Formats: sequence, structure tokens, C-alpha cells
Amino acid sequence: MSEVTKIFGANVFNETVMKSRLPKETFKLVQRAIHNNKRLDSATAAVVANAMKDWAIEKGATHYTHWFQPMTGITAEKHDSFITPAADGKVIMEFSGKELIQGETDASSFPSGGLRATFEARGYTAWDPTSFAFIKEGVLCIPTAFCSYGGEALDKKTPLLRSMEAINKQALRVLRLFGNEEVTAVKTTVGPEQEYFLVDRDIYLKRKDLIYTGRTLFGAMPPKGQELDDHYFGTIKTRVKAFMTEVDTELWKLGVVSKTEHNEAAPAQHELAPVFATTNIAVDHNQLTMELLQRIAKKHGLICLLHEKPFDGVNGSGKHNNWSISTNTGVNLLNPGETPYENAQFLLFLCAVIKAVDEYQDLLRISVASAANDHRLGALEAPPAIVSMFLGDELSEILEAIEKDEPYGAKEKELLKVGVHVLPKFPKDTTDRNRTAPFAFTGNKFEFRMLGSSDSVAEPNVVLNTAAAEALRQFADELETAENFEEALHDLIQRTVREHKKIIFNGNCYDEAWVGEAEKRGLLNLKTTPDALSHLLDKKNIELYATHKIYTEAELKSRLEILLENYCKIVNIEALTMVDMMRKDILPAVSEYISTLSNGLLARSEFDFGKFTSFEKETATVLSALSESAYQKLKKLEKLTAEAAKCENSAEKAAIYKDKVIVMMEELRADADRMETLTAADYWPFPTYGELLFGVR
Ligand code: ADP
Ligand code: MG
Repeated sequence: MSEVTKIFGANVFNETVMKSRLPKETFKLVQRAIHNNKRLDSATAAVVANAMKDWAIEKGATHYTHWFQPMTGITAEKHDSFITPAADGKVIMEFSGKELIQGETDASSFPSGGLRATFEARGYTAWDPTSFAFIKEGVLCIPTAFCSYGGEALDKKTPLLRSMEAINKQALRVLRLFGNEEVTAVKTTVGPEQEYFLVDRDIYLKRKDLIYTGRTLFGAMPPKGQELDDHYFGTIKTRVKAFMTEVDTELWKLGVVSKTEHNEAAPAQHELAPVFATTNIAVDHNQLTMELLQRIAKKHGLICLLHEKPFDGVNGSGKHNNWSISTNTGVNLLNPGETPYENAQFLLFLCAVIKAVDEYQDLLRISVASAANDHRLGALEAPPAIVSMFLGDELSEILEAIEKDEPYGAKEKELLKVGVHVLPKFPKDTTDRNRTAPFAFTGNKFEFRMLGSSDSVAEPNVVLNTAAAEALRQFADELETAENFEEALHDLIQRTVREHKKIIFNGNCYDEAWVGEAEKRGLLNLKTTPDALSHLLDKKNIELYATHKIYTEAELKSRLEILLENYCKIVNIEALTMVDMMRKDILPAVSEYISTLSNGLLARSEFDFGKFTSFEKETATVLSALSESAYQKLKKLEKLTAEAAKCENSAEKAAIYKDKVIVMMEELRADADRMETLTAADYWPFPTYGELLFGVR
């Protein structure tokens, strides 16, 4: 056995381990829980818990934790040891079925958006047996969902699991219509490609903005940026390579199939992609990946920046969410088939996604909305804030032929009849040429590229699963009562294409002209988080989530509160950090430099050298003017920040941050960045972009 196969999954209580450690009957029941969403009874849970504990102790664990994903977007854990006091002052190691299945935790410090009254601070965590327990840093981690006393979701996993159930139910209805009786479960699959930056830890520690906000609030462009494209897929530096090797090894031990690691377009930017997995597992694994990237970077004297836009002027970091729908019999439903029937089924699922993305553009945009991602969307090499879909020319032509009842292709004489004709073959590689599209069909899956690098993968998949479930529900309702299935199917596909083709755009989404074109088509362009969030409680969205039991209206309202609150807090911290850096570091440094220049000027005039050079004079004059301008803006920024902080209505508050605070921050930064280019290197108080972006050697 190779080293890799030996370590892979070594820290995971997976099915192989369970099979070898659980009684046959218990194992069968656990399998049912995993694959068919059946509940475990308490007697079975007790047996599983005991086996899990023995296994964990053998691996050196002393504690366990319910590992959950509150609305903070990262994971939370509270460690309890297995120790229980026994007679004679001794201890035994115990772990009960109850402790495995449900935990109780003080939820008062986790965001609840008003769902949980302060007098009812308890929160409950419940085991998700579909995601295996694992050992991390000597702690047995049990993936769990996190709810309030009243059962309302306080986390990202609960709605995700609900959405997976919704699409399972509706997709099965559709499959039955195609005569498919063997499939018993439909799951969505996700492969998230994770981008990140690596910077030198010592350099990082000299930047308050990176420490407090994760991004640079100041910084002039160095002479070299990413224009040479010499970083992309370039040779990986030895230090980075050592880091990546350790990341891979640790991820493999946790059963994460980390597959590719390469340099990205911007200097210091990299990417890691795993092999896809069932959606909730992919979400858990991505959380682990982000955690490990950050932890292991430190061991190598590096800092991993997961922020969406750590540097102005070079690419930001995203997380491509590759998504598909598969049956438990191993069929990818977004894979074009060989026979007319398979083709028809594929086209129907494709249409469900087209309809879903068009009707819930706003929810998809909201699912990736954050103060950080606002800087990235629509900037360098990132999809714009407009949601559109790329299908590629061949597939688009096929849909057009169906829509217009026209022959497809030059040679075809016959009209393309869904369910009767085999689809013409289209070469796979033509489907993935356009990297500018926010939502692209890439042969047998969709790639959603708006997601930010630090985001949880849960939210966009809640939207995708639920919106697709709704489209499939409507399709099934219509087709189940049809007299002639094939005709009804053809009509349905034709109508769906007609109604929703406005979302399909195969052109360059980075092109300015697309913004105007999209507007003409009536597509949404929700540029900022507050703009996007203003749609969350639209009637159609409340109805969608209620129909599929994903969020109640109360849950949705609480999420809106949390998202707005988070947006305000982030911008507030950034503004305060900017003020601090400006007052305490930048302005004093510039002032000092101006006085040095003035001294130089004086010295020259004493020797009557003044007429030979204007360097000191011009530089000091421009810097004085800039520092005066910056100082005035600084005071304005302080005032605006105070005004925003006072506002009590979260939507209005967010609007102040968006329309006033951020605007002033940008103006202030412009002055500072100009001052940086004029100030002698020794005087500038922070490491430059050049040092940050090219500092890892
Ligand atoms: P790239 O986008 O860099 O060309 P690929 O398209 O091969 O790379 O894969 C990108 C990601 O998509 C990988 O994480 C891969 O596992 C994932 N992926 C491939 N097939 C599926 C699928 N059916 N469902 C979800 N993700 C998938
Ligand atoms: Mg990709």
C-alpha cells in the first residue's frame, strides 16, 4: 500500500471503520441512516457512540465536540472530555448515545438575528450521520446541525440538509415519469475550487489592516502586478510546495480528496480543488480545508488570506461551486444521454436549472453577498454582479431549435422532437471555453463562479437545490397529469426555453456592453450586498422556502438581520482601522518626511543650491496638499462612521455604510496611495504591495 492510500481517511470514522467495529445489525441501521435518511434509535446510537469512542481513544483523542456551522460562516466547537468520575476517585472514559445524537450548548453568543430571545439562550446540536465523524487535533469531531430551542435553524447545515431533501423528493417524482423505478435517492454533488493568497507572516504582522480586516485598506500598485501572467500555473516555490504537501496530507487523513493545487493568476495567489462529493459533505470538507489552509500556513511562516479581495488592482479570490445532480444508481442527471429518452430527461433537468436560475437570480446573488465579495464581483477577472448562464453554442442552438420548432443544424431536415430524437452530439470541450460567465454549464455539471473565497459553500447550494426542486415540482405537477407524456414534455421544454432564455448569455460577461444588454433583458444587477439583500423577503422567495420547508418566514427574517448586521460590522471595523492607520501612522510619517524635505530645502538655500533642483520643494508641496486633503477626509470618515453606528434600523444603517462610509474610505485611500508613491521608502510606515505580493521566496 502506498503512503497515500495508507493515510487516506485515517482520522475518519467512515463506513469501513464502522463495518469492522460495529455489530452487523447496527452497521446496517447506520447505513440506512446514511443513505436513506432514516433516524437512528437510541439503542443503536449507544452502540455506535461506544465504538466511536473506543476508536477515537485508540487514536489518541481525549475529547469530543459537536462540530457545527453557526451563521458566523465558520465552524464552532466546544470540547468535552470523555472522562466520567468512577468509584475510588478513578475515572472512566464514557460517551453515550445521547451525547452522540444531541448536544446542548449556550447559544447566546452566536448570531440568531432575533430568533432566540436572550432568556432562552440554549441551542441544540444534532448529529448529521451522513457526514462522518473525524479526529482533529486530538478531538473527536461530530458534524452536527445547530438549532434553537424551538427548532429554528441557527446554522448553515440545517437548511442545506432540508434543501437536499427537497430536491431528492421532486427529482424522484420526475424520474418516475420517465419510467425509472430503481432510483431511490437523488443527491446533489459539489466540488468547490478554493482560491487563496499566501503572504509572508512577518510582513503580514506589520499591516494592521490585514490583521484586523483581512484585506489591505491602503496600498499603491507596485511596478509589477499580474500583467505578465507569469504566476499562473507557474512553478511552485519550495516553501509554498512544502506548505501544499502538508495541507494535502492532513486533508487526506480527514478523508478530503484534495486533488489539484496550482498557482493562480495574481502573484501570491493559489488554488486547491478537491474531487467532488455529496453536497453536505463537500460543505463540511470545504470548512476543514479553509481551517487547515490557515493553520498550516502559520507553521510555514506564512499567512493564508481567504479574503475575497485582499489587494486592489490584482485578481480577487473566489470559490467555484461545481454542482450537479446524481442518482444513487450512479447516473449524473446533468450528463447528456445516448438515447432519446435519456436526452429528454437530461433536457428536462437542464430546463429546471435554467428556470431556477432565472427565477431566483436574486437569491443566488444574495447567497454570495458579503461586504468582502462586493469588492470582487465586477472587478478584475471576476464575474459581474449580474447572474447569467452560459450554455455554449451547441446546446444553445439545440434549445433554440426546440423553442422555434426549427430544424437543428445545416444538415438536419427534421424538426427536433424531444423524447423522439437523439440529440446531436456536441463536443464537451466547447462547453467550458467561456470563463467569464457567473453560471456555466461545463459538460455534465454547472459551475457557479460568484461565490467568494471565504464564504461557506452551504448557502449557494441551499438556493440551487431549492430553486431546482421548485422547478422540478412544477414540471412533475404538469407532466403527471398529462395525457400524452411526450407531447407534454416537448411543450414544457419549449415553453421553459421561451420564458427563461433571457438568462442565457454566451458572450463575454466582463464586457461593459453586457451590463447594458442585461438591463435590456430585465436581468437584475445587484451591485452591493444591501442592494441584493433588499430582495430576500420578496414574496416569491418567502413562498419558495415555505413550500419546500427550508426556512420559515421567521428564519428568513433572522437571516436577513444577521447578514445586514454582519455587513455593517465589517465595514465599521474597516473604517475604524483606516482612521487608526491614517492618524497614527500615515499622516505622522508623511509629516516627518515633509519636514526632512523642508530641512533639505533650507540647507540648499543656505548654500544657494535652490535653483538647481525642485525635488524637495515640489514633493513637499504636493505631499502637504495631499495630507491636508486626507486629513479633512479622515475627519469626515470619523463623522460618517459615528452617524452609521448610531442608526438603529439595520437596512438604513447598511445603506449609510454603503453610500457614505465606503465612498469616503475610497476617497481617503486614493490620497493615501498617492502619498505612498511620493514618500521615501524608509519613511512609509507599512510594507508595500510589492513586499506583500512578492515577499514569499
Ligand atoms: P476545471 O474547472 O479547473 O477545469 P474540472 O472541471 O475538472 O476542473 O473540475 C472542477 C471541479 O468540479 C472539481 O472539484 C471536480 O471534482 C468537480 N466536479 C466534477 N464533476 C462533478 C460533478 N458531477 N458534480 C460536482 N462537481 C463535479
Ligand atoms: Mg473550474
